[in-house]
Amino acid sequence: MDSVKVGPAAFRRIVIAIDGPAGSGKSTLASLLARKYNYTNIETGAMYRALALKAMQNGVSLDDAAALGALAGESGIELLPKPEGNRVLLDGADVTERIRQQDVTEVASRVSVHPAVREWMVDRQREIGAGGGIVMEGRDIGTKVFPDAEVKIFLDAAPEIRGTRRFLQSPAATAPEAAVLAELHQRDQRDRTRATSPLVPAPDAILIDSTNLSLDQVVARATEIIDERLKTSS
Ligand code: C5P
Repeated sequence: MDSVKVGPAAFRRIVIAIDGPAGSGKSTLASLLARKYNYTNIETGAMYRALALKAMQNGVSLDDAAALGALAGESGIELLPKPEGNRVLLDGADVTERIRQQDVTEVASRVSVHPAVREWMVDRQREIGAGGGIVMEGRDIGTKVFPDAEVKIFLDAAPEIRGTRRFLQSPAATAPEAAVLAELHQRDQRDRTRATSPLVPAPDAILIDSTNLSLDQVVARATEIIDERLKTSS
């Protein structure tokens, strides 16, 4: 007997992976796409940030891979998808605003280099995304978390543009712009050169360079890519 065909492709709930460096506009794009397709938006960076905060609160050394891996295992990190982005609970406490602060940002990129930490994160992220119907954004979604994702977008922009965007977004723009730029470059460098799951485009990712694009243009291009995939994937 012929295999049963599942309904129209447009109703399939696929995995949309969005990777890219800080300040490329991933979070904004992911939340707009999630709204457009009625998917769940998962900001994986928030999970690394929550663990970073817990490490800070517990005085765990950022070089102690085993202790950080163990800390991850005993952490309750929950992402609550909302239209404006994810709310983040750490052991039941809402840490959404706290984890966006500069000190946590820096520590997040340091805890994320450890393979034991990444393994724990990747397992959780695969569980969260198992049913499809998600837009998941981060650094290793298309390469590691969902290497078979139906759509993989790598969003990039020139470093100066990303730095300026990040400065304008930073809470109360407390640090001078030059300091924000320097931190962003350092974090980028760490994310791109770490041994485990460095930030690189998956070989089959489609690059969107947003340097000279408006937000509307970025969303339009991403929508084109997704709609094309929904039409052709079985
Ligand atoms: O995306 P966001 O800026 O919130 O990520 C914070 C840090 O978490 C990144 O600089 C990166 O080191 C780490 N990260 C990661 N893998 C992901 C998401 C974030 O290593 N999938």
